Parts: sequence; structure tokens; C-alpha cells
Amino acid sequence: MDSNNQHIAIIGGGLTGLAAAFYLQRKIEEEQLPYQVVLIESSDRLGGKMQTVVRDGFVIERGPDSFLARKKSMSQLAKDVGMQEAIVPNSTGQSYILIDDQLLPIPGGAVMGIPTEISPFIKSRLFTPFGKARAAMDLVLPRSKETGDQPLGPFLRRRLGDEVVENLVEPLMSGIYAGDLDQLSILSTFPDMLETEQKHRSLILGTKKNRARKAAPQTSKADHRIGMFRTFEKGLQSLIDAIEAKLPSEMVRKNLSVESVTKKEKGYMIELSDGEFMQAAAIIVTTPHQAIPRLFPDYSIFEPFKKMPSTSVATVSLAFDEHAVKQDINGTGFVVSRNSPCRITACTWTHKKWAHSAPKGKALLRCYVGRPGDEGIVDLSDEEIVQIVLRDLKQIMKITGEPQFYVVSRWREAMPQYRVGHTSTLRRIESSMAEELPGVYLAGASHKGVGMPDCIDQGVAAVGKVLHYMKQ
Ligand code: FAD
Repeated sequence: MDSNNQHIAIIGGGLTGLAAAFYLQRKIEEEQLPYQVVLIESSDRLGGKMQTVVRDGFVIERGPDSFLARKKSMSQLAKDVGMQEAIVPNSTGQSYILIDDQLLPIPGGAVMGIPTEISPFIKSRLFTPFGKARAAMDLVLPRSKETGDQPLGPFLRRRLGDEVVENLVEPLMSGIYAGDLDQLSILSTFPDMLETEQKHRSLILGTKKNRARKAAPQTSKADHRIGMFRTFEKGLQSLIDAIEAKLPSEMVRKNLSVESVTKKEKGYMIELSDGEFMQAAAIIVTTPHQAIPRLFPDYSIFEPFKKMPSTSVATVSLAFDEHAVKQDINGTGFVVSRNSPCRITACTWTHKKWAHSAPKGKALLRCYVGRPGDEGIVDLSDEEIVQIVLRDLKQIMKITGEPQFYVVSRWREAMPQYRVGHTSTLRRIESSMAEELPGVYLAGASHKGVGMPDCIDQGVAAVGKVLHYMKQ
């Protein structure tokens, strides 16, 4: 390694880049390594898709709102930056599926829509007797000979039938990927399902066994009242602020875009939007995949990223006086089946799910719009989107009066779609990078998981690879 160039650049200051910066800096200090890290972020703030608005006592998330407690890296990062005490769990409550204009409860024991308890499933009004009988065929159907990557939709339909997929699984899963199940890669989204079928043959029986195994340590009574999601009492932005506060201020360069990266005889030359050039021996790229081919214009290995789609959604948060929203339904939210004429795709009664999110006497509803095929809604004005959302909500609950205020957040091409073949394409890209761009590593939501903990895991993995490379 050239002793004149000990710089490591991290491109992108979303959660992935921040986690990488934090753990890299910690390692450098612990091991007294001679490296300098620089984090380059094109916008005027860190956090990328994690953005919280605090207004009139409401805590409103524009993008992600919570993380899965069982994925440990987010809680670990919170602990490492002194935010552990600020973690809050969601309140549990009934969730619903909207079919036509009816809210029907999600049957107990459904894991990502896969039934694991017979009685709530038999009693559910989400499915016809035929639909239930077809789903039960999963118990006797043979395992598939196809063990490689395949689209999620046909896999699930083969096991459970159309009704269970359309009325339960699809609305739940589209909340995570905002995508089309018939295009999404099972290997890159729910590889456990493929394994479950191969191991247990029946998806229902296998999921039931897996669930019992995972739930085993939860024995105390209180565990049942605490939900499986977590956030921070002052919002997700507070974690970002805590990480930023731990980084040396000279490390972070905001309002600066990386324009391109050129390989030199030793290391890389990074061209910045202010005309400056910066040298780096190693680079962690955490931008969304769309940006990567532009950053490396001389490398055709990134061509597949040009074809990798991302979908657009918007979140709409509506703040009300509590008495303006009459909910006869006891619950924390609902997702919408495609068989419903509604244009919202999901709604959380945020004040009920997250007590910290609204002041006493107020209600906060957060809706999603922009299902596949209706992404144009994201381009309407705030007022038009809010009117559509209110019209839909008024079909379901009694809302009197106008919202006190609303926050519309557009997420254009922000939900990367892992299509069939994603995992092998990424493997090919990474192996070409090892040859052609040694010391450059990819991490972030476009690659190996979109959830916030997955992004942290990728940032941490990239730190390990960079240090290994630098020490060679
Ligand atoms: P980003 O947050 O996109 O950060 C990338 C950064 O790179 C950005 O800050 C960008 O400005 C910067 N950048 C881009 N190009 C350049 C350049 N040329 N030079 C310098 N900087 C550049 N996950 C969950 O776990 N739970 C949820 O509830 C959840 N809900 C979500 C809801 C919505 C509406 C969305 C959009 C996502 C949600 N996610 C959720 C997913 C999760 O928020 C993201 O996957 C994660 O935050 C992505 O982090 P990242 O750092 O990989 O990317």
C-alpha cells in the first residue's frame, strides 16, 4: 500500500455509509491505524431515506418508521452510539386487510401471510371455503424440484393458491418491497421460504416449526404485549444525529457529490462536484444502484444496474385532533389488497402503534400511495394526493374536519427491486470488481437487503473487506 495514500472514501451518507464510517473510525482508533476516512454526501444532511419531522409535538417519519427487533445490528449500533435507552417498542394491536371496502382482521399466526394456526385461518373472512381448501393443499403437495432462484409470486401460488396470495401475502409483502411479487426474486427477498419448502416440504408446517423455534426464548408475559418493531422516541433521525456526533467533523463532507471515480496506478482519483479531486486507496460505495454506472463510466461491469428497476411511493402523514377521527375498529393499521378500489396501499394509526408519535388528544395517520401501476400518483401535487388519501380513508372510518397539517414525502425510484437473478448478477459484479477495481466495495439497500438492519450489516461487512485490503 502506498504510504502517501491512506485515505478511505465512503460515498453516500445514508444509514449504510454512516454505519460504515462509524465502525471504520472505531477500528482505526482502537488499532491506531494510519488511515483517514472521508464520508461524501451529496445532500445537505446525513441519513438518506431516514428523515424525521418533529412538529407541534408530533414525531413524523417521512421514510422508514421502524426496524425489526430480531435483526440485532440496529440495536447494536444504537447501543454503540449511546442511544440504547431511546429505543421504544411498538404497541401491539390488530392489523387488517382492506378488501373491496371492508376491513378484515389478519388472522392470528400468519407469518408474512403464511398461516401457521388452523383455527384463526378457518374462521377468517379473508378467504372463501375454496380458497382455504386450496391453501390446505400445501400440507400434501410435494416439494418442487426447482431449487434455484424463481419469482416469489408463482412459488407462493403453487403452494397456497391465488386467494391467500392476493388477499393476504401480497398486501403484506408489498409493504416492504413496493413491488410486483411475480417479478421479485425469492432468493434475494425470502430465501427462507425456499429452504423451508426443501426441508419440510409444506410451507405451512415448516413455517410453523420455524416460528416455534424462534419464539422459544420469549417466556415472560410482558413479551406478548411488546411488538416486534422498534424505533427511537425522538424518531429515526435521532439515531442519525447520534452517529454524526460521534464522527470527527473533518470526516464528513456534505453538499458534495462524487461525479466520477478513475482508477490510477495506485488507488483511485475521485472527482467531486466542486471541481476538487481527491485520492483514495479504497472506497465503499453506498449510493443507490442507479448512481453507480455514472460514478464509474469506464466500467461496463455496472451495466446491469442500469436495468435494475426501483419503484416510487409517497408517504402521507395526517395530523388530527383525536375527536376528528372516529375509529370503530380497534387496531393499529391496515394494508390494502389489490382487489380494493382504494389508491392508498397501507395506513398506520400511528398514534396507537407508537405512543410517542402524537401529543395527547391528537391522532396521526400515515398512509402509503404508489402501488405498481399507480406510481403516477407520486407526481400529483401535495393537495391532490391528500384529497385522494382522505377520500379513501373516509370510506373506512369517520373523519370529521380537515387535518391540522399534513406531510407528504415523495420517494421517487427509491425502492430497489430485486428481480429474479439479482443474487447471481451481484456475485458476478463483485467478482469483476475484485479483478478490475480492487479496494472498491458496494454496500446498501440496492444490494443485499433493504431493511435498515440489513444496510448496517452491509456497511459493517464492507468495513471488514476494506481493512483487509488496506492491511495487505
Ligand atoms: P440511502 O438512504 O438512499 O442513502 C444513500 C445516500 O447516498 C443518500 O444520502 C444520497 O444523497 C447519497 N448519494 C447518492 N449519490 C451520491 C453521490 N454521487 N455522491 C455522494 N452522495 C451520494 N426499512 C426498514 O427497515 N423499515 C422501514 O420501516 C422502512 N420503510 C421504508 C419506507 C420508505 C418510504 C422507504 C423509501 C424505505 C423504507 N425502508 C425501511 C428501507 C430503508 O429506509 C432503506 O433501505 C435504507 O434507509 C437505505 O439506506 P442506504 O444508506 O443504503 O441508502
